[in-house]
Amino acid sequence: MELRILGYYGGYPDNGVGTSGYLLTSGGYNLVMDLGSSTLLPLEQIMDPLQLDGVLLTHYHHDHTADFGTLQYLWQLRPGDKKEPVLPVYGNTKDPLNFAALTFGNYTKGVGYAGDSVIQAGPFKLTFLETEHPVPAFAVRVEDTTDGKVLVNTSDTRYFPKLAEFAKGADMLMADTNFFADKPKPRWHLTAPEAGQIAKDAGVQTLLLTHLPQNGSLETLRKQAEQTAGNIPILLASDQDYLRI
Ligand code: ZN
Repeated sequence: MELRILGYYGGYPDNGVGTSGYLLTSGGYNLVMDLGSSTLLPLEQIMDPLQLDGVLLTHYHHDHTADFGTLQYLWQLRPGDKKEPVLPVYGNTKDPLNFAALTFGNYTKGVGYAGDSVIQAGPFKLTFLETEHPVPAFAVRVEDTTDGKVLVNTSDTRYFPKLAEFAKGADMLMADTNFFADKPKPRWHLTAPEAGQIAKDAGVQTLLLTHLPQNGSLETLRKQAEQTAGNIPILLASDQDYLRI
């Protein structure tokens, strides 16, 4: 599968870069995973959004969904051939009001998931783990069934041990690394050393740090993750726009 980073900041866009949004592609199937603020424009630079096959939302915080509403209008208003006349949108059902908003006329349709769901979206098998965050949020494990490669996205979460079990053996772990090591508790995102520890405990091939802070040295953030990750290579989402998994 191919991963393209549409935005990587937590909370709000900054310096011309948007918040969480990722495009996953395999064998011509296009899945957007979260569509945060200022991510629709970079998506349009890469592909015609009408060629999307689906949208997956990990939770309903605005920095993961802000551009989804305008994608719904695009589906309604823009002329052109849609690959999917009714676009499937995978979202959790633990937040019924936000889940209901995924369905919009005959243009987009919410498809619910919960912690025990298994969803086949084109070549991708999606499984989920509810995280620890102020609103219902789910880590997602994406297995490309054409070649067995696995990408795990922690989505937004504080540290808890089950994350490593869920990410076991992944080819790539993308981790919410919003905080430096010295961030005091309570916190609702991972620190860099926590992201490194999960990667090590899970034995992943590569760790991608994302949901990054706007302030502070990202190279310091990466080094802090290295201190717990052992020999696992660590990438910053800010240094990447295309990754092959
Ligand atoms: Zn969040």
